[in-house]
Amino acid sequence: MDARAPDEYKSPAMNSSRTQRENVGPGVAPPNVFVIDHPVVQTKLTELRDASADHREFRALLDEIASLMVYEVTRDWPTKPQAVDTPLERTTGHVLARQVTLVPILRAGLGMADGVLKLLPDARLGHLGVYRNEQTLEPVPYYQKLPPDIAQTEVLLIDPMLATGGSGSAAVAFLKKAGVRSMKFVCLVAAPEGIRALHKQHPEVPIYCAAIDRELNDKGYILPGLGDAGDRIFGT
Ligand code: URA
Repeated sequence: MDARAPDEYKSPAMNSSRTQRENVGPGVAPPNVFVIDHPVVQTKLTELRDASADHREFRALLDEIASLMVYEVTRDWPTKPQAVDTPLERTTGHVLARQVTLVPILRAGLGMADGVLKLLPDARLGHLGVYRNEQTLEPVPYYQKLPPDIAQTEVLLIDPMLATGGSGSAAVAFLKKAGVRSMKFVCLVAAPEGIRALHKQHPEVPIYCAAIDRELNDKGYILPGLGDAGDRIFGT
């Protein structure tokens, strides 16, 4: 991967979810940010970045990466014991303790939803649309449809690109107002600017990504990035 992280995010081992869990490498990872540096994820991310991948390839890769990320993203979720009858006897297994809600931020977040649902097929799906008010430049939620009991569920807020952090922060604020207490922000590529902006307002919300890229350009695109995720997913 040619993405070079800025100093505050750089470490010999990069700031992986493994590194964070084991507390290796003092000060290398921003608190509460987890980079999923699994070799298979990184291989697929590199293929996805390739400008020659068409929308069919892009969608398929995004779907696979989203599924693979679920393992790390859900690792610390609580489970509860559940009795199960095997063909031989009754035993006690463990299942997720809480219901799950996915909330893709429209529209690019939809590109990750199916991949996450493959691993969490019982999850409900909320939708959140956020636009930027051209006068105030503030992100404004314009569409929301959430499960009525979302407050009692584990929420994964998903958007492939954490760029300025504007829509992500607005979406987190909206979900907090809806009573959500346990949520994680899951993206594919994060810009340092976006991480800073999101964590300035919501430091307690963990961010999971497959890469932290270098910077934003003057149009708000992530460099090196992968271009406009929505356009590449939907072929627009
Ligand atoms: N949104 C995208 O789709 N791509 C970027 O690089 C930044 C925001």
